[in-house]
This record gives sequence, structure tokens and C-alpha cells, in this order.
Amino acid sequence: MNCQLCQKELEAYREGELPEGIMIQVKAHLGDCQDCAEMNQLFILSEKVIQEEKNLQSNPFLVTRIMAGIEEMAQGYESYQPVSIFQKVLKSALITVSLAAAILFGVVAGNLYKPLTTVNKIPAEMAYLNDAALESVDLLTN
Ligand SMILES: [Zn+2]
Repeated sequence: MNCQLCQKELEAYREGELPEGIMIQVKAHLGDCQDCAEMNQLFILSEKVIQEEKNLQSNPFLVTRIMAGIEEMAQGYESYQPVSIFQKVLKSALITVSLAAAILFGVVAGNLYKPLTTVNKIPAEMAYLNDAALESVDLLTN
């Protein structure tokens, strides 16, 4: 195995994807050749750095997602608020109107129950009352 072939197979060697025969040859070459061993170490190190960077990238992304979620919620809240106020006003207006209608209906029903002709009529007992016979308030005063 020469250096060129070894370096070509290094990635597959690290991932364990080489046939067993070539795997042994690459391993033997890495043990003998300082340059290829260093290159292999460099690859391993760079993969570690990339992996670490991937892990670090998750945090800003998470922050971005959370901020986007908060903004979305705020926008939803802003758009929801006018509808809510409208509904509250409509609800209270409906309650007021229905309450007034119920009171009016009660008054009208009460008046309809008694015929209007009897309202202005003086009851018979009242007609026989003699105002002169009533005890005068003047008697109580000295
Ligand atoms: Zn080599």
C-alpha cells in the first residue's frame, strides 16, 4: 500500500466501510507511515471540531425558534384582541337589550292583564266613603 492509496481510503477506513483485506493494509500502513498517521489524526480532529460546531449551532437556532414563536404568539394576541373587545361589547349590549325587552314585556303584560277601563274607575267602597266623617287632623292639634 502506498501513501496515495492509503489517504484515498482514509475516510472509508475511519468509518469502517472498507473490506477486511484493505482495512488491514491501511492499518498496517498507518502504523508504518508517519505522514499518513498524522493525516488520519488531523481528519479525526477536524471531524471532532465539525461535530462540536454542529452541537453549538443548535443553541442559536433554538433561540431563533423561540423568538419566532413568541413573535407569532404576540401577533396572534394582537389580532385576537379587537375581536375579543367586539365580542365583549356585543355580549353586554345583547344582555342589556334582552333585559330591557324582558322588563318592557313584564310591564306591558301587567297592564294588559287589567283592562284599561278599570284603572281610572274608583272602587265602589271608595265612593261610599264620607270625607266629612273622617277624623280630622285638626282635632289632634291644640
Ligand atoms: Zn503513507
